[in-house]
Amino acid sequence: MKTTSNKVALIPKMYCTLFGHDYQVSKNVTSHVREYTCKTCKKELTTNSNGNLTELTPTFREINAILERVYNSKTERLKEKAINSSSIYQHV
Ligand SMILES: [Zn+2]
Repeated sequence: MKTTSNKVALIPKMYCTLFGHDYQVSKNVTSHVREYTCKTCKKELTTNSNGNLTELTPTFREINAILERVYNSKTERLKEKAINSSSIYQHV
């Protein structure tokens, strides 16, 4: 069975030019920085420091990797804190 969507897959960029990109969140870097991928042409965007969307260049990819690491280590530390403080309460 052939559908018209097969044709669209061959000309994703033209499709996006005509109908606009169909972005989906591909990664949550931090609570306010995300990476997006267009379902049609696979173009990638990310949130920059101003909170606007910008093309996901190798530089931004690197920045996001660092942000993610910092963000994760922070949330890990918060979790540890929560565990420690709850164990203090148990002992009291
Ligand atoms: Zn697109």
